[in-house]
Amino acid sequence: MKIMVEYIWIDGQRPTARMRSKTRILKGPIKRVSQLPVWGFDGSSTEQATTQSSDCGLVPVRIVPDPLNGGSDILVLCEVTLPNGTPHPSNTRAHLRKLASRYATTRALFGFEQEYTLYDKDGVRPLRWPEGAAFPAPQGKYYCGVGCDEVYGRKLITAHTHACRKAGIAIYGTNGEVMPSQWEFQIGPLDPLGAADHLWLARWLLYRMGEDVEIVAKLDPKPIAGNWNGAGCHTNFSTAAMRRKGGLRAIYAACKKLGMQHAAHIADHVYGEDNHKRLTGAHETCKIDTFRFGVGDRGGSIRIPAQVAENGKGYLEDRRPAANMDPYRVAYALLETVCGRGFRNEVFNYFANK
Ligand code: ADP
Ligand code: MN
Ligand code: MN
Ligand code: MN
Repeated sequence: MKIMVEYIWIDGQRPTARMRSKTRILKGPIKRVSQLPVWGFDGSSTEQATTQSSDCGLVPVRIVPDPLNGGSDILVLCEVTLPNGTPHPSNTRAHLRKLASRYATTRALFGFEQEYTLYDKDGVRPLRWPEGAAFPAPQGKYYCGVGCDEVYGRKLITAHTHACRKAGIAIYGTNGEVMPSQWEFQIGPLDPLGAADHLWLARWLLYRMGEDVEIVAKLDPKPIAGNWNGAGCHTNFSTAAMRRKGGLRAIYAACKKLGMQHAAHIADHVYGEDNHKRLTGAHETCKIDTFRFGVGDRGGSIRIPAQVAENGKGYLEDRRPAANMDPYRVAYALLETVCGRGFRNEVFNYFANK
């Protein structure tokens, strides 16, 4: 029996990568990545190679059922390699793969809160925003709203949630956001590589499903200047030490370590591009040049949820990452800073030196 396999990868666009995919017909059923052939693509068309040496490789790393086609069809997330088979410089997953295995005994878990904004098919105005210079009514009624005067685009959100569940992606929940046409879904909690892979697959499904209804999803951290909320990707993080009795102490220790690397992480754009437009100190953010943490503080860099403080254990929420962040880089930075020797950026200079 033949099946359709969608090979999905992250491209080399800068400052913010997008996603690419292409379809292959193969003999099924396929259950493990080792059953899938390595494939290739034209890296000169994805900002990952020159025309002279354009053959990049696609190495399958994670399979999920294809929720759109059904049957035995699958989606497969791939790592990108150079013509010689080694990881491509844009392949940040390869770095996290090694780090996560080095720190496997910490039993780290991640949960991502992906905020995004829906646009009309031309990609210029947020979905159902008025034409020209007009704006919708000011923020206040949209967050977790109900009714077609308060939330725009729910059909896509519901379909996306069902699709994630069908694909076995660890979607945790969804909500309408503060700015009209802005939404959020959460992924996790999962191991570092799993959470980041699931986030990329969920992003791909959102872009792909938007095609069918002619809605564009964007991860711009500050889609509309002025008194409109930006879009982040709050990153929730815990280790076994934080989750057991008395773990609050480990959570505070982690916050302090992250504070010491704050300036370096910001300088390296670890938390996404254009994040300075979002981290202004207003709209539930902390100013980009300030590091602050506290219980229940939505104006801080890191928030310790009130329930976590109450229980004396749990996880922390890093509120700095922007919606367009690369979860492999963010998870790398948090893991290395909290569990390791302190984060150093040399492995990420492909993106830092743009
Ligand atoms: P918020 O109150 O900040 O809006 P959400 O309910 O949107 O929070 O998201 C909570 C996130 O926390 C989810 O992504 C979930 O996976 C994650 N999470 C829950 N428990 C843990 C944990 N122990 N470690 C890491 N992440 C966790
Ligand atoms: Mn949330
Ligand atoms: Mn949110
Ligand atoms: Mn949050």
